[in-house]
Amino acid sequence: MKIETEEISIPLLIEKEVRLFIKRIDKIHPFVSGNKWFKLKYNLIEAQMQDLDTLLTFGGAFSNHISATAYAAKEKGFKSIGIIRGEEHLPLNPTLHFAKQNGMELHYLSRSDYRKKTNPEFLELLKAQFGCFYLIPEGGTNKLATQGTAEILEANDTQDYICCAVGTGGTIAGIINTSTDKQTVIGFPAIKGFYELKKDIESWTKKKNWKLVNDYFCGGYAKVNKKLIDFINSFYKEQQIPLDAVYTGKMMLGILDLITKDYFPKGSSILAIHTGGLQGNKGMSKRLGVILPIS
Ligand SMILES: *Cc1c(COP(=O)(O)O)cnc(C)c1O
Repeated sequence: MKIETEEISIPLLIEKEVRLFIKRIDKIHPFVSGNKWFKLKYNLIEAQMQDLDTLLTFGGAFSNHISATAYAAKEKGFKSIGIIRGEEHLPLNPTLHFAKQNGMELHYLSRSDYRKKTNPEFLELLKAQFGCFYLIPEGGTNKLATQGTAEILEANDTQDYICCAVGTGGTIAGIINTSTDKQTVIGFPAIKGFYELKKDIESWTKKKNWKLVNDYFCGGYAKVNKKLIDFINSFYKEQQIPLDAVYTGKMMLGILDLITKDYFPKGSSILAIHTGGLQGNKGMSKRLGVILPIS
């Protein structure tokens, strides 16, 4: 598969003698963007093989995974059910509006019930309610998802460092599994809970050539501050590359900060994975009254 990689050119990189590239997997599909396309790939094949006609999954109200699953389900001829955390708010935000428009049936769960999302008895109750379905966990991470995300990194991606935003860890796990031992994979968590996240990633990969840097989640999941919003907008203006405010914006802010702090040795090269998430900027802009690139 041909996925475009662009080289970033800014004075800081010349000064520090490092090269920075960005792999635009966000461009792989207009609506099943970025890492979510890879995470769904083998799950959709498995659902077909099991002869199931309905996908059921979980997500928050702004979830990239919900949006991607709704569209992918429609494209492949599945019905889809989205179990959404929290109460229904009308009018629907752009993410849920899109999911519904593409045929996803939305159901809402209180935050306390939502926590039961991996509990087998709870899943049995859902089966009694909705009939048989193929279950895709929240965020889309399972073994088949890591098989898909292992295809993000390709043979010509030979940079010394591979950087990736981290939510559940399914994406970085696949990337780690494909990386060579000469490469270091660096994860930028978008959530608190560093310790659990590390354990989760260790459950998907045996390799050791990776680390998480935990200084760039900007206060918590889907939290933003002025510095982040300004950074995303100036990066967009200078590079014409849109970043999202939940994942890739924080990662890129982190990479450039680490470069400033001489984290990467002179002469090294870095590949940042643009995992997508741009659909979320619309809802985020509206909710917070800020301006973000919407492409
Ligand atoms: C979901 C998502 C992630 C996190 O992926 P995980 O596999 O859950 O770690 C990163 N970036 C973007 C843009 C996402 O939508």
